[in-house]
Amino acid sequence: MIKINEKQFFADFENLRQFGLQGEGGAVHRVAYSPADMEAREWLIARFREMGLDTYSDGVGNSFAFYRGHERLNPIGIGSHSDTVPYGGAYDGALGVVAALAVIRAFHDAGERLAHPLQWVNFAAEEATMGGGTTGSQAMTGIFNMQMLNKAAWDGRPVREHMIGAGLDPDKILDARLPKRGGYAAFLELHIEQSDRLEKANLPIAIVDGFVGIRRYAVRFDGMANHAGTTPMASREDALVAAAPMIQFVRDLAVELGIVGTIGDFKVYPGAPNVIPERVEMIVEIRGLDAAILDDAQDLIRGEAQSFGGEFDPVVIKPPVEADMIVRDSISAACAKLNLETLTMPSGAGHDAMNMALICPQGMFFVPSKDGISHSKDEYTSPEDCLNGAQVMLETVIELDKKLSAKS
Ligand SMILES: [Zn+2]
Repeated sequence: MIKINEKQFFADFENLRQFGLQGEGGAVHRVAYSPADMEAREWLIARFREMGLDTYSDGVGNSFAFYRGHERLNPIGIGSHSDTVPYGGAYDGALGVVAALAVIRAFHDAGERLAHPLQWVNFAAEEATMGGGTTGSQAMTGIFNMQMLNKAAWDGRPVREHMIGAGLDPDKILDARLPKRGGYAAFLELHIEQSDRLEKANLPIAIVDGFVGIRRYAVRFDGMANHAGTTPMASREDALVAAAPMIQFVRDLAVELGIVGTIGDFKVYPGAPNVIPERVEMIVEIRGLDAAILDDAQDLIRGEAQSFGGEFDPVVIKPPVEADMIVRDSISAACAKLNLETLTMPSGAGHDAMNMALICPQGMFFVPSKDGISHSKDEYTSPEDCLNGAQVMLETVIELDKKLSAKS
């Protein structure tokens, strides 16, 4: 019986928290490519070297450790990311990285191997601090856009400069790219939920059935600027008045269709208290797992915009990505074995596992986040839930190894 070494698991977690910690109980400030991030990565890699494992890092800063299997098969990848948002928490990303370390430790300490090798993966720059997010997994899966290098990072400096500061050569980051098929047998990620569904349902594990598609639309209403004091109400063309119904419409539509909808970017021009608004620009964002429902929502939002004289242009269309059944079934079997009740839910946020879908079967599971808080120093997952996560990961790789071996 292979078991997670609990004491070591929590000690490793506490150790990782120290990198970037802003005083006792404070935020964890471990932004991608910063000294704290690079030191944390180095510390993690050293834990595998201690066990005598091969480790390496690639051109974009992803780091890896390799635990041999009985057979020469593609590895099962396990891991997450150890970078944080500026002044973030100790659990987002870190928990998945440390749990994957604990899983490999468990095999190593028991002197056991699966048929498949295990590959620990610590993705670089997952948080959207480098102009966008999931930089490391985008480079690995060949979808990184090199123009991002010239974009401003979270602190206004170009992304390229951050990478150079971390000792990387930005022009070589696409060397990290893996073959379309053949890099991994499967990939599994554990993450905190970042929402409160598990806590509300009082359940320990959520199995992710997919990653929501994201669509963003630029919606614009034009009116006519005029004097706010002298123009009678009847002769105004107020762009904001035309735009206003859209706000409630998007909310009601999302509730009705079981998706989420947000207008988080909204500008009024010229934006003076004594001028009637001549133009309103907003970005309407919707997210959901079912592309057909998103299509319906899109048509309805376009219709609503046009009925008030608005213009409607799609700006982002990211399709939903389903989690692979072989991974989902393995997580589910693992939870049954551990007597942990689960619920199934889509991931409303992007994760590295979503990009990994481009090169291998992938899946994810969540453990509860207290009050649904993440990207904050108040992020918290109980020790019991953290340990459940590591145990589910361990049992899942055992299941996955069986299922993948039976398939090949
Ligand atoms: Zn994360």
